[in-house]
Amino acid sequence: MSTFTSLSREASRLSAGLQGEVILPGQPRFDEARRAFNLAADQEPAAVVFAESAHDVVAAVTFAASQGQQIAAQGTGHNAMPLGSLTDTILLKTERMRGIQIDPQARTARVEAGAVWSDVVQAAARHGLAALAGSSPNVGVIGYTLGGGVSFLGRKYGLSASNVRAIDVVTADGQLRRADREHEPDLFWALRGGGGSFGIVTALKLRLFPITQVYAGILWYPLERGTEVLHTWRDLTRGAVPDELTTVSRFLRLPPVPDLPAEIRGKSFALVEAFHLGDPAQADDLLTPLRALGPVNDTIKTITVPELLHLHMDPEQPVASLGDGLMLASFPDEAIDALVQTAGTSAKFPLASVEVRHLGGELGRHRRQNGALASLQAPYLMFAAGITPTPDLKAAATAEVEDVLAPWAAQHMYLNFSETSRPRATLWTEHAYRRLRQIKASVDPHDVIRSNHPVPPARTKPGHLHRGHDLWNISLKFACEGHSRVTT
Ligand SMILES: Cc1cc2nc3c(=O)[nH]c(=O)nc-3n(C[C@H](O)[C@H](O)[C@H](O)COP(=O)(O)OP(=O)(O)OC[C@H]3O[C@@H](n4cnc5c(N)ncnc54)[C@H](O)[C@@H]3O)c2cc1C
Repeated sequence: MSTFTSLSREASRLSAGLQGEVILPGQPRFDEARRAFNLAADQEPAAVVFAESAHDVVAAVTFAASQGQQIAAQGTGHNAMPLGSLTDTILLKTERMRGIQIDPQARTARVEAGAVWSDVVQAAARHGLAALAGSSPNVGVIGYTLGGGVSFLGRKYGLSASNVRAIDVVTADGQLRRADREHEPDLFWALRGGGGSFGIVTALKLRLFPITQVYAGILWYPLERGTEVLHTWRDLTRGAVPDELTTVSRFLRLPPVPDLPAEIRGKSFALVEAFHLGDPAQADDLLTPLRALGPVNDTIKTITVPELLHLHMDPEQPVASLGDGLMLASFPDEAIDALVQTAGTSAKFPLASVEVRHLGGELGRHRRQNGALASLQAPYLMFAAGITPTPDLKAAATAEVEDVLAPWAAQHMYLNFSETSRPRATLWTEHAYRRLRQIKASVDPHDVIRSNHPVPPARTKPGHLHRGHDLWNISLKFACEGHSRVTT
């Protein structure tokens, strides 16, 4: 009997015990079920499970392990490209688990596995609170946070991962665990920036902030002025910038689609986006040199936190795209010239967007109580994306920009902005990666849980100890090596 026949027979038993559903290859809705937000990802899993509760996640993980399959959680499929082949893998979709509970007194949000940022931002705003959302309203909160999470409020408040209070997670042994500072501290550390290799998260509790408005918007210039815009922006970021101000420089090519206003439809721009918490006069002062360049449009004004979610104009419907990013150790004149040459008016490939975000502030402060990605040790984060409706355009789209900026790449990559497979050790510090592998070996020695940027289990000696002992040993080992165990 083929693996497929046996899996499909067993899957009907799984299905009977679920609130959600199982969809197998060959069934009428399989093509719809296997689709990711990024339509360029052609996913062919052994089965798709739509979970509706933590109980469903436990059942699906137990089932996968019993069938010798791997299981990959997917909230939206925004970062589905690096998953690669899903042969012998069950794709666990969490999009039906969208519950959110706001605790206005504690200033926290408990967010279920499938929630996207617009769900949380809207719910929090009803209580005068803000979350550390990213640029897109429909990126998944869990995938974003497990990978770190760079918000436009991040220079002030840090990574989303550094603001997690508790995590409910189903580990490879089918146990639903609570990970926080008091329980499962190693797992809690690994999940905050180590990605999705350590279990399937069913809910997260996140810190919220008493913010209702932000002074934010865009300075628009014709793409032809890209060089002077980038120089002026870069000089701003080299000065004394308060944590309250975040700026992004960007080359943007807008498609000729009818739902865009006529003045920007089908046109290309060099932009500077600005986000400021606090007195607008302080931001105006810092933005003076950019305004002196004479932008063709200046939309910076006080807006509500939910409005912020649409400012960056990320695609809100599924698209086929290829994106990738680099952290930059510096952004000297030569890097600006190279970027303009590759992505400006004379670009060979008309990339839809090339952005450079200013990091630093709290994002760069390495605090002991933070998780596996404790900080981003680089001043800039670049992301380039091409809309790639045909497979042959996929490869060409972003490789150019990455290659051209490679001489200024920082030592480490940022997991969330890595949409191709990366050498894993480049996503974390050497110490963090070693510890992640040991924790993976302890909670998932047979590598049942599969992430888009997988952490392989560290090799363990035959007859290694029981899981609980392993975690204890790892902690002890790190304590002996002089690394503190993160329990504060
Ligand atoms: C348009 C756009 C804008 C973006 N803006 C930002 C930004 O401003 N800041 C930023 O930091 N990033 C940003 N990103 C990157 C984004 O954070 C990552 O792509 C992230 O992985 C998306 O998470 P997801 O759940 O939506 O995607 P998915 O592809 O569904 O998930 C990605 C990975 O997350 C893990 N995962 C998801 N759900 C679970 C779960 N329940 N349990 C365990 N693991 C899970 C899995 O390993 C999965 O492979 C952006 C991406 C896009 C495409």
